[in-house]
Amino acid sequence: MLNSALDLMTVEQAHTSGAYVKRDLQIVRGAGARLEDAAGRSYIDLVGGQGVAALGHSHPAIVQAVQQQAAELMICPELFHNPLRARYQAELCQVAEMPRVFLCNSGAESIEGAIKIARLATRRPGIVATMRGFHGRTLGALSATWNKSYRGPFEPLLPHVTHVPYNNVERLAEALDEHTAAVLIEPVQGEGGVYPAEDGYLQAVAELCRANGTLLILDEVQTGFGRTGWFFAHQRDGVRPDLLCVAKSMAGGIPMGAVLLGERIGVLPPATHGTTFGGNPLACAAGLAVLDVLRSTDLITQARARGAAVLDHLRAHLLSGAYREVRGRGFLIGIELRGKVAPVLGALQACGVLALPAGMTVLRLMPPLVISDDDLWQAVETVEEVLNDAV
Ligand SMILES: *Cc1c(COP(=O)(O)O)cnc(C)c1O
Repeated sequence: MLNSALDLMTVEQAHTSGAYVKRDLQIVRGAGARLEDAAGRSYIDLVGGQGVAALGHSHPAIVQAVQQQAAELMICPELFHNPLRARYQAELCQVAEMPRVFLCNSGAESIEGAIKIARLATRRPGIVATMRGFHGRTLGALSATWNKSYRGPFEPLLPHVTHVPYNNVERLAEALDEHTAAVLIEPVQGEGGVYPAEDGYLQAVAELCRANGTLLILDEVQTGFGRTGWFFAHQRDGVRPDLLCVAKSMAGGIPMGAVLLGERIGVLPPATHGTTFGGNPLACAAGLAVLDVLRSTDLITQARARGAAVLDHLRAHLLSGAYREVRGRGFLIGIELRGKVAPVLGALQACGVLALPAGMTVLRLMPPLVISDDDLWQAVETVEEVLNDAV
C-alpha cells in the first residue's frame, strides 16, 4: 500500500518522463492564493500554476461553471456549432477588440497556429522573434524561442527564423525584408527575465511591420487576462496586433489557448488548420466564467496599482547588495539577483512562499490577482528577508 507522501513522490520519480526538474514538495490542494502540501502545510503561491491561476486556485465561479458543464457536454469538436462556444467566441473577441478567434488548448499550440496563419496570409516564410523571447516547446514555437539550451538539442528547427535584441527598433528594422511574414514578440518578456517593453517600442514595432507588409504577432500567453494590470498588456501601449496568442490563465486552470485574428487576417480558408479539443464546451464554460469575474470586479486595475506598490516597496527595502534590478508590470514581477536564483527559491519555500525563476538569476513573482493584502505583503516581506539575509 503506497500512501505516504514520500512513497508517492518516489513512485512519481520512477515513472515521470524526467523532463521536469521537480521540487521536493507534494501539492494536494489549493484555494485562492494558497496551496497545501501533503503534510497539511500552507504556502502563499506566487507561482500560480506558472501564471495560470490568476483568479487563484479553485475559484468558486470557475468550479461551478465546470461542474455544471461537465454534466451537460464536455466535448464538441468544431465540426458542429455549440451555443456556449458561440457566446465565448463573441465575448472573447469583444474584450480583445479583434473580430475572429481560433480556439486551441495551450500556449505553444497558439503560437504554432499563429505562425501557420501568418505564413498562409502573407505567403512569406520568415519570422523575426527576439532575444530572451520564450514562445513554447513545440518545434515551431521552439524555433522562435531564444534560450539555446532549449533549442540546441533539436536543431535543425524551422528555417527563416531570426532573433533581434528586445527593445531595439533599429535592429528590428534591419531584420525585416520582403520574406518576413511576421514579427513575434511578448509585450513583457516573461520566462526570459521579466523585461517590459519600453514606452514607444511596441508602437514602433507595429509601424515597421505595417510598412513592410509584415504581420505583428503578440504573444500574451503569460501577460494576458489581467496579469500586467491591463486586460491585455498591449492595450497599455495602444497597439493593435494582427494575431494575438493567449492561453495560461484564460480558462482559470482548464487547458485552453487561442489565436485572435485581426482585420488584416480575415477569414481562414477552410481546412487550413484544426485541433480536436479546440473550443470544447468545458473549456468555453471555464473561459466564460473567467471573463465574467474579470469584467465584474476591479481585480485588473487593482493588480496594476498593487503591483506598482510592490515594485516601489522592493526597491526601497532591498539592500543594494541583494539585487541588481527590480522590473515588472502589474503582478508580473522580476527581481534580478546578483547570484543564482535556485537557492533563493528553496529558502522561500522553507518560509512558506512559492516563487518561480525566470532564467538563472531572476526571481519571478506572479501573485494571483485575488491574493489578499495580508498574503501579498507577508510574501513580499518574506522575499525581502530572504534576499537581505543572504547579503
Ligand atoms: C508559457 C508560455 C508559452 C507556452 O505555453 P504552454 O501552454 O506552456 O505551451 C508561450 N509563450 C509565453 C510567453 C509563455 O509564457
